[in-house]
Amino acid sequence: MSSPIERLFTVFDHTALVLQEELKCSYLEAVAETGENLFHGDVLQEEVSELSKKRLKKEYESIQLESFTNEQIRKAFQLAVLKGMKEHTQPHHQMTPDAVALFIGYLVDKFTKTYFTLSILDPAVGTANLLTAVINQLSGKQVKSYGVDVDDLLLQLAYVNANLQKHPIQLFHQDSLRPLFVDPADVIVCDLPVGYYPNDEQASHFRLKAEKGHSYAHYLFIEQSIRYAKEGAYLFFLIPNSLFTTDQSGKLHELIKEETFIQGLLQLPLSLFKNEKAAKSIFILQKKGEHAKAPKKALLAELPRFSNKEAMQAMMHKIDQWFSEER
Ligand code: SAM
Repeated sequence: MSSPIERLFTVFDHTALVLQEELKCSYLEAVAETGENLFHGDVLQEEVSELSKKRLKKEYESIQLESFTNEQIRKAFQLAVLKGMKEHTQPHHQMTPDAVALFIGYLVDKFTKTYFTLSILDPAVGTANLLTAVINQLSGKQVKSYGVDVDDLLLQLAYVNANLQKHPIQLFHQDSLRPLFVDPADVIVCDLPVGYYPNDEQASHFRLKAEKGHSYAHYLFIEQSIRYAKEGAYLFFLIPNSLFTTDQSGKLHELIKEETFIQGLLQLPLSLFKNEKAAKSIFILQKKGEHAKAPKKALLAELPRFSNKEAMQAMMHKIDQWFSEER
């Protein structure tokens, strides 16, 4: 017997392959189309032949979406997206890895224990894998969520992903380094796009703009996130480990010190990444404000391999202890 995730993935996969052929599009585009169909319980693409329509409907009817949990839906959809991304590698098409998304969700839940309602913004929402993994761990809270991305295909995948999981995320298709149409949020999560931001004119509105040439997009994203965070809001960034070792990191330090309290820096296990250069950490900040306070000691740790259950449990214990001492 296959698992629910495998069964759902198989439906995504088989139907995406049919649609890819019929619509002459990429597998990733077909995943977005089939997710839309599954959500509406119908085949929405007029150009599909009658025969293929029948095949698709039969596949869709073989499962009942309501019988799957949100996490099962997210993971099955994630597998289909990963397959599509492998076929068509585009450097900016990168989804936040499952284990990292889950761990950030765990941290967000911990930091917002006392909140009944909260708003959460991901200014680089991509496929919404990270954002929905986080929201799925905040059950019991009323969550308003917002996602922004400049890539229309990824945003379409985010839309379908959110619909299938019944999360009413408000999505915006735009450059996140331009003014956003969202109110400041209680929580920001962001797997930072790393690289240069090509729009120098727009970059000139930021303190962290480069003196010469293009600015670092990841620096500007941190500044923009702080701007769209409420006073006392928590910010969770997935950062490259090299964030503080560039020629321009002085200004970044200054901004972070002036506007936020550093809550924690958790280095992810190297085994998650292709090489040391690609390795990342989770960086947690709190924006200053009336009720915000600096921790006596920031939460600093090197996370073990997520598959190492014992070491992971010891780490969770260490984190729990930090929370009981600091909050
Ligand atoms: N968390 C996402 C997920 O789970 O799919 C992945 C985020 S990915 C590492 C970074 C995202 O930033 C990409 O989806 C990319 O399109 C987006 N991005 C890069 N520059 C941007 C900009 N200026 N404005 C908005 N989004 C941007």
